[in-house]
Amino acid sequence: MRFIDLQTQYENYKGEMDRAIAEVLASSQFINGPQVGQLETTLARYVGVREAVGFSSGTNSLLAVLMAWSVGPGDEVITTPFSFFATAEVIALLGAKPVFCDVDENTLNLDPQLVEAAITGKTRVIMPVSIFGQCANLTALNSIAKKHGLLCFEDGCQSFGATHHGRRSCGLSHAGATSFFPAKPLGCYGDGGMVFTDDQDLAQLLRSIREHGQKVRYRHARLGMNGRLDTLQAAVLLVKFAHFENEIASRQQIARYYQDNLPAGVRGPVILPENGSVFSQFTIRVAERDRVQTALQQAGIPTAIHYPIPLHRQPALEGLVDDQSLPVASRAAEEVLSLPMHPFLTREQQDQILDALAKVVVRA
Ligand SMILES: *Cc1c(COP(=O)(O)O)cnc(C)c1O
Repeated sequence: MRFIDLQTQYENYKGEMDRAIAEVLASSQFINGPQVGQLETTLARYVGVREAVGFSSGTNSLLAVLMAWSVGPGDEVITTPFSFFATAEVIALLGAKPVFCDVDENTLNLDPQLVEAAITGKTRVIMPVSIFGQCANLTALNSIAKKHGLLCFEDGCQSFGATHHGRRSCGLSHAGATSFFPAKPLGCYGDGGMVFTDDQDLAQLLRSIREHGQKVRYRHARLGMNGRLDTLQAAVLLVKFAHFENEIASRQQIARYYQDNLPAGVRGPVILPENGSVFSQFTIRVAERDRVQTALQQAGIPTAIHYPIPLHRQPALEGLVDDQSLPVASRAAEEVLSLPMHPFLTREQQDQILDALAKVVVRA
């Protein structure tokens, strides 16, 4: 059994995928080929924003937006301690300070009340993460940002396709960014990412930043990066996007079956009524998590821990961030366990996972 089954996905789309890749090879327009613009247009429309700018990774998408806003030394960016490291890394890389607020006990997303209390004269950006495929409370966070004259930027690297009050993740605030890393809900065959915004000035800046700050060739107006999404990845994504809605439906069906059949003693994810999750992870919470993980592994069930160390405890950020306890995120880090989740998980496999889990937690 695989935690995420990319092989089966490829087998399912093989004909169209091989054709799309062969087309790029034949044209050999590996950089800035027409598929990149085509993908940007397609995904901007899907998200419901004017502008989409492809990047070489989710991390570079996050970094480029903060660069475009000139976030740097002396600035504070409020974010969540319960995320993948890249969220805080990009803030610290630019010399700004990541300010962590604890998360909501049910959703494990940023708690807006704590965010408002953490705003200082140095705060520039509120940067929520829509964790495990469920949008953060962007309604509340946007209004807090507006009230205090701040920018709100959704790290939607796990939540592309998710909805919040009927609107899509990445199009819910001033800007949103996603990742096309292979294991994400919409993944390519390498690294990739994209920024979404209605702000056309920001989009123009981002297009410059992703090409070393140039506007015309070899004339560099600002410092940027090599941040382009390459043509092959865009071609792969165009093929996968045609199946994306079906894949989301399948993920949601699997999540519902898991949820309805979880054994006692296991907490399933809490999805709020205003949200539609894409379940980038199906993450449960259990006591004695490490023992449960080992026992599942012995039963042939692969699992993962997202994430074992909250960001305010990461060695790389020591001395750069406040020494806080953040109890909700810290406890979650000890209890979370992600079960296999991908659109091709069969009912037999789901039952096998649930049976193994029931045996393991009964003995707890
Ligand atoms: C995956 C992820 C990233 C980084 O994306 P890459 O494409 O791997 O650079 C950033 N933030 C979150 C929340 C992620 O899950």
